[in-house]
Amino acid sequence: MIKAVKKLITWARLKSPWVIHFNTGACNACDIEIVAALTPTYDLERFGVLQKGTPRHADVLLCSGPVTMQLQDRLVRIYEQLPEPKFVVAVGTCACSGGVFEGCYSMLGGIDEAIPVNAYIPGCPASPDAIIDGVTKLLKSYEDAEKEKLKNKKGGTGGK
Ligand code: SF4
Repeated sequence: MIKAVKKLITWARLKSPWVIHFNTGACNACDIEIVAALTPTYDLERFGVLQKGTPRHADVLLCSGPVTMQLQDRLVRIYEQLPEPKFVVAVGTCACSGGVFEGCYSMLGGIDEAIPVNAYIPGCPASPDAIIDGVTKLLKSYEDAEKEKLKNKKGGTGGK
């Protein structure tokens, strides 16, 4: 019964992932593209993706920009508030590696300097198509990993 509920939760999570967006120091161009991906023109919502106002309700954290020293602690706090399993997507070259801000005295670098990142979407700015592609690929790889886990479990006990 618990297994069935877990399966249902995973299915629901994959069919309707909720996202939260956080600007860790971006120039705002990547943020505009993230917002564009959520508007009817690109319609990220057709994949069940909804934007949430609190990390406690979100599955995916979309980060834009390099991590500034000022926002580093806040980013970690937001990350910690996301329920498991949580996913982080670095949107834009700055979020991937620091980009044009690399080496700047007030910057830590890319998002993975502060928290673990599951997917990197390069581009300056990253286009809405690339953002949609990245999020859907990330969820697909999570689905495949869950299926693999289930298969290994069945194999381990010898059951079908
Ligand atoms: S990747 Fe380009 S558009 Fe995005 S935050 Fe950095 S400088 Fe701005």
